[in-house]
Amino acid sequence: MPTEKTPSPSPGEERLAALVRELLLELGEDPSREGLRGTPLRVARALRFLTRGNRQTPAEVVGGAVFESGSNNMVVLRDIEVYSLCEHHLLPFYGRCHVGYIARGQVLGISKIARIVDCFAARLQIQERLTAEIARAIRDTVDAEGVGVVMECRHLCMMMRGVEKQNSVLTTSSVLGSFHSDASTRAEFMNLVQMHHSR
Ligand code: ZN
Repeated sequence: MPTEKTPSPSPGEERLAALVRELLLELGEDPSREGLRGTPLRVARALRFLTRGNRQTPAEVVGGAVFESGSNNMVVLRDIEVYSLCEHHLLPFYGRCHVGYIARGQVLGISKIARIVDCFAARLQIQERLTAEIARAIRDTVDAEGVGVVMECRHLCMMMRGVEKQNSVLTTSSVLGSFHSDASTRAEFMNLVQMHHSR
């Protein structure tokens, strides 16, 4: 229901809303019935928001929040929430992501790791590519010596369409630099990530 606070739609939102109206008709719906009257514009705005990463770069979301650090310890951030849309069905997949890296004199503000994850998740994705893009962006942002990313997600395109067991979780990982070349570094990371599961 429009209120005074709702901004009027942009030309892009108008075009997207018109397409959603067509989609509803094609699905056998009546876009003029009461419950659907505001739907095309709401869907248009939701889709714009869910794909906002297409209009962002990692450098923009980090915004210079990279700090000098003398340490070269492993930094691990677990359980970052991930919400994305699968590019094959435009249906959500969601779950968690665990990120680790070893700095080479520079570290990222903690919240910025989550912003980088969001920047790539808010696009049409496949989980494998999303995992790899996050790892590369973190490596490039802080010139990390090594990076590891593990992601565990449920895919509604599998769950709702009954393609796979309802509770299956897809796990993907991407390891770069020392996380790739050094087995003990990789094992330390996987250990820190898995500690959580036995909690
Ligand atoms: Zn899918």
